[in-house]
Amino acid sequence: MPFRIHNALSAPLEEFKPLHDNQVGMYTCGPTVYDFAHIGNYRTFVFQDILRRWLKYRGYSLRHVMNLTDVDDNTIRNSKAAGLSLRDFTAKYVEAFQVDRQLLSLEDPEIVVRATDSIDDMVKLIQTLIEKGYAYASEGSIYFRVAAFKNYGQLTKIDLSGIRDGARVDSDKYDKNNARDFALWKAPKEGEPFWETPLGPGRPGWHIECSVMSMKYLGETFDIHSGGVDLIFPHHENEIAQSEAATGKPFVRYWLHAEHLIVNGEKMSKSLGNFYTLRDLLAKGYKPSAIRYLLAAVPYRRHLNFTFEGLLQAQQSIERLRNFRNRLAHEPFPSGENPALQDRARAACQAFEDSMDDNLNTAEALGAVFAMVRDANTAMDHGELRAGDRAAFLETLERWDRIFAVLEDTDYGKLRQFGFIKEAREFAKPDTETGAPEGTEARAIGNGHRSGLQVESLTDEEIGRWIAERNEMRRKSNFARADEIRQNLQKAGVILEDSKLGTRWKRK
Ligand SMILES: [Zn+2]
Repeated sequence: MPFRIHNALSAPLEEFKPLHDNQVGMYTCGPTVYDFAHIGNYRTFVFQDILRRWLKYRGYSLRHVMNLTDVDDNTIRNSKAAGLSLRDFTAKYVEAFQVDRQLLSLEDPEIVVRATDSIDDMVKLIQTLIEKGYAYASEGSIYFRVAAFKNYGQLTKIDLSGIRDGARVDSDKYDKNNARDFALWKAPKEGEPFWETPLGPGRPGWHIECSVMSMKYLGETFDIHSGGVDLIFPHHENEIAQSEAATGKPFVRYWLHAEHLIVNGEKMSKSLGNFYTLRDLLAKGYKPSAIRYLLAAVPYRRHLNFTFEGLLQAQQSIERLRNFRNRLAHEPFPSGENPALQDRARAACQAFEDSMDDNLNTAEALGAVFAMVRDANTAMDHGELRAGDRAAFLETLERWDRIFAVLEDTDYGKLRQFGFIKEAREFAKPDTETGAPEGTEARAIGNGHRSGLQVESLTDEEIGRWIAERNEMRRKSNFARADEIRQNLQKAGVILEDSKLGTRWKRK
């Protein structure tokens, strides 16, 4: 099945075909780095990560560019309030964004660019627009003349009849009922940062930034441009106008937009008290993998209703998959093969791939793998699964996880690495004689939550080392000490299961 996507330019599903062989150029609007990104933002970033992973899965060679908006109305306002330079102020949020991305297992785009590093290119594009008659100056600012660009509104299907030629808007954001000439370049205001340029002093408007940074790295026409639905108007509409007016060529071939995230059925907003950054959820004890799973589970063109119940279910779903994989990998099965079961595993893989090809239907892709897990668990319970069947199921899981990226338990390691949780104290100071942990005390991060990181914990490697230590104690018949290690691990949220095949562990 070919990969089909919903292109906002053309509406119905369309087969995806890159402009050049199997090379894909993709631009995604990055965050405006004036605050911590919220989970609505991450819904879009997770969708874009799924998209990039799927393109690579399908064998495309990807060049993905993402910008960081580090100069716009918001960054200027907040840096001023903080009494910091724009660069110093935004640096904190650039770093926070990169940490959040790693926590959510978002792959790095091939190219990440800050808007303030491309001011010269923005000036050049604006000069071109002036030369071609699409832009004009007024009171030190420069505006795009919407009436001069006949194709304005192709993405939004906008009615231009209400637009008065020459009426202007200075803010970067406005609704489509207020469409009018928008600022490409903004005259300096008292106390605001500005650049001295051939256009005069000032700073770029938000929309010109993305036109310039995308074309600079991907060429005048490229394959995919993506963002949240709230960017369709005016941001993406204006990007098209600026770019196509300047080059005379089509700007982007496929536009993909992620729908809104709502919380408990309501729009997320600070005033409603239901506004969450990723860090808010971590402080409540939720795991990054569960958050990623929940954000990925709903197909990108549907509203995602975020609930804490949903996060708990996401955590359980991940647990179920990990337990299944453990069972598959470690349980002893009779030798031989059961071809029908291997066919079942391959059919699940096919169903997963077909779902992803169908405009990234992640809900069905999840459904396909869970149906397989159910059937395979039943087969194992009935002794039907043979040792030779293992590989087919592991293969399907591995392929599925190339996209969903939740099977490896990396949460604790990453949360430790970035200082969100600390090493469980009792394990941090080994007893000098035995190298063994002292008394146990668990500390929660944030206010704790029954779902997640109740306790400080250990990385997988550390747990492995303590299990080895315990085995050594048991070998030396020091059962008291062995038992103490087991209890300490339990207090740190790690359950041991001994069997004749050795010791397995899992997190509570
Ligand atoms: Zn943008």
